[in-house]
Amino acid sequence: MRFINSYARLPESFYERIQPARVTAPRLIRLNRELADSLELDLPESDEALAAIFTGNTVLEGSEPIAQAYAGHQFGQFVPQLGDGRAVLLGEVQNSQGDRFDIQLKGSGRTRYSRGGDGRSPLGPVIREYVVSEAMHALNVPTTRALAMAATGETVFRETPLPGAVMTRVASGFVRVGTFEFFAARQDMTSVKTLADYVLERHYPEVRRSDNPYVALFESVCRAQAQLVARWMCVGFIHGVINTDNTSISGETIDFGPCAFMDHYDPTAVFSSIDHMGRYAFNQQPTIAAWNLACLGGCLVSLFDTDPDKAQDVGKRVLDGFVPEFTRRYTEGLCAKIGLPGGGETDFELARELLRLMHRDRVDFTNAFRLLCEAVGNTDRFTALFSSQEDIRNWIGNWHVRLDNTEETRQAMRRVNPAFIPRNHRLEQAIRAAEDDNDFTLTHRLLEVLARPYEDQPENTEYAAPPQPEERVTQTFCGT
Ligand code: AMP
Ligand code: MG
Repeated sequence: MRFINSYARLPESFYERIQPARVTAPRLIRLNRELADSLELDLPESDEALAAIFTGNTVLEGSEPIAQAYAGHQFGQFVPQLGDGRAVLLGEVQNSQGDRFDIQLKGSGRTRYSRGGDGRSPLGPVIREYVVSEAMHALNVPTTRALAMAATGETVFRETPLPGAVMTRVASGFVRVGTFEFFAARQDMTSVKTLADYVLERHYPEVRRSDNPYVALFESVCRAQAQLVARWMCVGFIHGVINTDNTSISGETIDFGPCAFMDHYDPTAVFSSIDHMGRYAFNQQPTIAAWNLACLGGCLVSLFDTDPDKAQDVGKRVLDGFVPEFTRRYTEGLCAKIGLPGGGETDFELARELLRLMHRDRVDFTNAFRLLCEAVGNTDRFTALFSSQEDIRNWIGNWHVRLDNTEETRQAMRRVNPAFIPRNHRLEQAIRAAEDDNDFTLTHRLLEVLARPYEDQPENTEYAAPPQPEERVTQTFCGT
């Protein structure tokens, strides 16, 4: 494997050089061969050798492992030092297309940034991150990817003893808003600039030569976040903990802790066990993203202009562009879901009216949009989801007036309305079987289904069904 290790070339204050902790009984649970191939990784064949690599027992030649420093606003409170407390960046690989990827182990032992933590991860959160991040990728949402998961053979103590595991994840980069905050909080503007230059070169090379590359960088990050949150909301995803340290500069979804996909549509839905105030509720996500971007703007502002007042104005102007950009993306996405890709104000209002009816009748978000594809022709199965027939039939009437009732419309809708999402109860069942009985059948099966979310898969319809009342998951946990 060819490692570049560009982050390890940055100043020493950016990271700690550290080897992953050795584990006693490594065992490979799953390797994402398709991803490994796209990264052009040259991996050994045997499961034993792979398990050693993906638990950190074998450090690949050329890798210079580091734990990255960052800070962050957690639930609005600033924490000046967070950092990779249970993760190690192995380095960065480049494929023949020139794409660069960071490879990171998570759950690989204590680092300088562990604070009170043990640096480990239980198996449950590893399965959760693997399944949800791969599902997100198949749903065309920018995300970190899952390369492998491996059991450590060791016990991790949380409320109860749990089997330990290591997750190997891949990102186009792991710099977060919180990485900028780490240096800005220390008034270390030289490092803020160094980091900004690094990010420009790595993620936004197209704007490096603009009149003011730092303003252009801020604009690019704002645009990427607007697009990301709009994508989340079009698939019913609630991140659950969008702290600034979990906001990636590259615009990828990062950290799948207490996240969840909604079953029935509820714009105020919160699943996270630690989100008592609903700060990160489904419909709060754009507001919170803008809040996080304001934090980033605060770190970068002195690079915008030598005149502080002008710098403030420029930053504010960029930030003011977030809401219109999000609205544009969300409108586009939602209108495409109802087969009206023009995305005009009337179409958007029609889509929102549908969401209101879905909310009132507690209709399953994913299934409603999927069945709506069929309602281009026959509307019976779609309308049967609703308790008030009159209102939904009225809505269908208004919709049909605007719709191009053709097979092409139906097909286009099927490409943006998935049949399968990682439903919380299915994920929970897979994790229970793995943790309690060391049985990964459900995990593997779930991954197979979720790799093709836009296909009907008649043999897997039970994975499209919402939970029975007794199966319903009402809370999700971060697993820290
Ligand atoms: P998260 O909630 O996963 O985004 O993590 C927030 C911070 O807590 C990060 O700095 C993590 O590295 C750290 N952290 C989470 N779990 C652990 C752990 N088990 N041991 C050490 N640090 C941890
Ligand atoms: Mg995090």
